Amino acid sequence: MDRPAKADCLFCRIVKREVPADIVAETDELLAFHDVNPQAPHHVLIVPKGHIATTNDLLAEEAALVGRMVLLARDIAEDHDFAQSGYRLVLNCNRQAGQSVYHLHLHLLGGRYLSWPPG
Ligand code: 5GP
Ligand code: ZN
Repeated sequence: MDRPAKADCLFCRIVKREVPADIVAETDELLAFHDVNPQAPHHVLIVPKGHIATTNDLLAEEAALVGRMVLLARDIAEDHDFAQSGYRLVLNCNRQAGQSVYHLHLHLLGGRYLSWPPG
């Protein structure tokens, strides 16, 4: 399904280069950039270029897209030499999980020990 950009969405604006970001990787359908407020030595956000608000809005036909988000995160961790030491992938959905930007984004966190359970 074609997912058009949402004009007032921050991450759509980053995808369109209307808002600057420190870009780490890009494919035809995904963009990865450093989180502006990093919670670990490595903190990258992987987003689909099309606007999808939350995981609740994903369609079955977008399963492979989400898989490629995970694989791109894995590749970034390998390229930056923290795949073997370890990392965490996080998808926050809606208010109780602390989602603050309503454009689907996969957090890639690494470079330090991460406690469990999360807060
Ligand atoms: P959420 O809380 O929705 O799961 O994560 C949103 C993330 O986006 C936060 O970690 C926050 O620091 C990051 N963020 C918010 N605004 C910007 C921005 O303008 N640029 C970048 N690169 N990251 C942002
Ligand atoms: Zn968006």
